[in-house]
Amino acid sequence: MTDWRNPPRLFIPGPVKVNEDVLQQLARPTVGHRGKEFAQLYAETSDMLKKVLFTDQNVFLFTTSGSGGWEAAIRNCVGLDETVLCTCCGAFSDKWADVAKSCTKNVEVLQVDWGKPVLAEMIDEKLATGKFAAMTLVHNETSTGLTNPVEQISKMMKEKYPDVLVFVDCVSAMVGLALKFDELGWDVAFASVQKAFAIPPGLTVVAVSNRALEKSKNVPGRGYYLDFQQFAKRVEQNQTPTTPAIPHIMALNYQCEKLLKEGMENVWQRHKQMGDFVRAWAKEKFDLFPEEQYASNTLTTVKNTQGINVAETIKAIQQKHNTIFGNGYGKLKEQTFRIAHMGDITLDDLKELLGWIDEEIGQK
Ligand code: PLP
Repeated sequence: MTDWRNPPRLFIPGPVKVNEDVLQQLARPTVGHRGKEFAQLYAETSDMLKKVLFTDQNVFLFTTSGSGGWEAAIRNCVGLDETVLCTCCGAFSDKWADVAKSCTKNVEVLQVDWGKPVLAEMIDEKLATGKFAAMTLVHNETSTGLTNPVEQISKMMKEKYPDVLVFVDCVSAMVGLALKFDELGWDVAFASVQKAFAIPPGLTVVAVSNRALEKSKNVPGRGYYLDFQQFAKRVEQNQTPTTPAIPHIMALNYQCEKLLKEGMENVWQRHKQMGDFVRAWAKEKFDLFPEEQYASNTLTTVKNTQGINVAETIKAIQQKHNTIFGNGYGKLKEQTFRIAHMGDITLDDLKELLGWIDEEIGQK
């Protein structure tokens, strides 16, 4: 019998495991969001986030899940008569294109097969038409376990299309993968905190370039809840426009302190070590779903070459060890399965899980 009061240990690619000390931050006495204590909490957290993201520009905190970032980038920064290029390579980047359309913007899709990366030259070919004001890109596609070559793409964008705004979904990338916002020249980048920040869901970190913020002033139909201008006005007082998820900001403050103490290069390296470890196992027992060169360091999408019953395997491990990992996403269900290795998950955690999967599939 499952019981939410005694939930399984999580290796699904978000929400991920949250350590007890982090959970305790969410249980701190609450403060008023217009009071001095909140302003102190906000200022500290925002300063640390800027260091984590290597930016001197704007960082906002949305009380939404990551999807709020999708909508905000589009609604704030794409004008009525402009067209946005949505690059799609899996379930989440595909969905962002749908969201952009639902915001009634002009959208053109660049689709690549799931498991393949979006390459700089593909984007270059589309942008050469000169009709795009902005483009969307997913840093790490959580359905296929693939990291797009964002460095090369960003370099090409800076050299050839400096006027095209770049919006990046970093939901399953931020903190786990190298990300220097200002150096990359991005305009909007966001991530919800239930992934590599290892905090329960409910908050999204959004970095916004000065030029994107400036542009948003003249974009109609921004709405209210995710309006960059509202956030910019309140940020001056170290506040948010509406009552935020204050406990989450306390937990974020705590996690940022730990990240900066460890050093971001070390944090990224730790994720790479976990990625290498799970990939080595996956290649020995199964195969990787994405092209190996682009396989992610925050989660592995394993190609089910043995034809195991993934749902049954997950169920068996849940019954025996109260632990779950992820089935394939959407159309990749049963053909693949996914193991998260981000945030506060450790190599020891992963050794235990992979041992249990080995036991279940009869291979030690
Ligand atoms: N983008 C990516 C890459 C994701 O993995 C997810 C969720 O897993 C989302 C966006 C949507 O985020 P949320 O569920 O926090 O709204």
